[in-house]
Amino acid sequence: MYNAKAYSAASATSPLASTVIARRDPTPNDVQIEILFCGICHSDLHQVRNEWSNVMPTVYPCVPGHEIVGRVTKVGSAVTRFKPGDFAAVGCMVDSDRTCPACKAGLEQFCPNFTLTYNFPDKHLGGVTYGGYSDSVVVDQHFVLCVPSNLNLAGAAPLLCAGITTYSPMRHWGVTKGKKVGVVGLGGLGHMGVKFAHALGAHTIVFTTSPGKKEDALRLGADEVILSRNADEMAKHAGSFDFILDAVSAEHDINAYIQLLARDGNLVLVGAPEKPLALSAIGLLFARRSVSGSLIGGIAETQEMLDFCGKHNITSDVEVIPIQKVNEAYERLLKADVKYRFSIDMASLKSE
Ligand code: NAP
Ligand code: ZN
Repeated sequence: MYNAKAYSAASATSPLASTVIARRDPTPNDVQIEILFCGICHSDLHQVRNEWSNVMPTVYPCVPGHEIVGRVTKVGSAVTRFKPGDFAAVGCMVDSDRTCPACKAGLEQFCPNFTLTYNFPDKHLGGVTYGGYSDSVVVDQHFVLCVPSNLNLAGAAPLLCAGITTYSPMRHWGVTKGKKVGVVGLGGLGHMGVKFAHALGAHTIVFTTSPGKKEDALRLGADEVILSRNADEMAKHAGSFDFILDAVSAEHDINAYIQLLARDGNLVLVGAPEKPLALSAIGLLFARRSVSGSLIGGIAETQEMLDFCGKHNITSDVEVIPIQKVNEAYERLLKADVKYRFSIDMASLKSE
């Protein structure tokens, strides 16, 4: 075991503060990574504030962070894909059972025995896993990804959650050229959704509550932007979408979007608001529409997404911050005031 610097929350109402945590020494299959950047996902905020208490209650102290990129510092004797000095990345999962049908299908995110990067039982050290708001992490090689060398590291970090969470459902539900695709909520996930829908050739339309994000949406690859609070603008698109990705973090009316789906159209929820959303059955019955959900993506698909980003030169639009600004960043996240992902420069942890 060794000590790593980190930022943790002591309770649902305390700010994140500097701390020291234990990390395991690398076992034969492990990769030790010096963390260079970690994105701030809205899930970090939900978890730190225990907003998912009935599904995944938070264990304190909580060290969040699951959008990790860094440099390999040490590898175990059985590690073949990485060597010290390589750039490497870790997303939302650090382990799974590798034997269940989900794991065999490359869908580790649906393994009943997976281990999330933070706030999950730590099989090695006891207690819970600690995430990427830290200067170092040790992860089994199966869950470590390769970062294409042309990508900026601060902008690549958010690909590990915001990227895969939007790429996976688009691939699963066949977003391609000729499809009309909506993205609801231009935040961390949403702006990646726009980049992917555009790169996959779809006619891409952003729904936003923020008039000030209109220009950015077009720059990010949207063909059109709709202010979702304008009922007339919404009504013009009734019954026309093949696929809508809803990446909103708070309570909102999903029925307004269901009305916009074409026959057999699908609204996929990736946002995970604290409270349940009301669903009108009538909106679904007409036109055989569906509402579904999607959780991150499997490890092979995450690598596929990173390689796709390498090929198309896609990264997240980031505001790089020192870790000391993390509490301020959380408050801004709640006001939808980030363009479009905070990425923590972990060098700032050295002064703690
Ligand atoms: P974020 O950066 O805070 O973006 C959320 C966006 O939702 C905001 O930028 C805003 O977009 C819109 N929004 C916020 N409050 C709203 C409200 N009251 N009504 C309507 N729109 C509102 O969050 P994120 O990191 O992208 O995460 C989004 C959600 O996805 C979170 O709930 C997170 O936990 C979840 N998530 C799920 C997965 C998964 O695997 N399914 C993975 C990661 C994250 P506009 O300003 O454009 O309106
Ligand atoms: Zn996330």
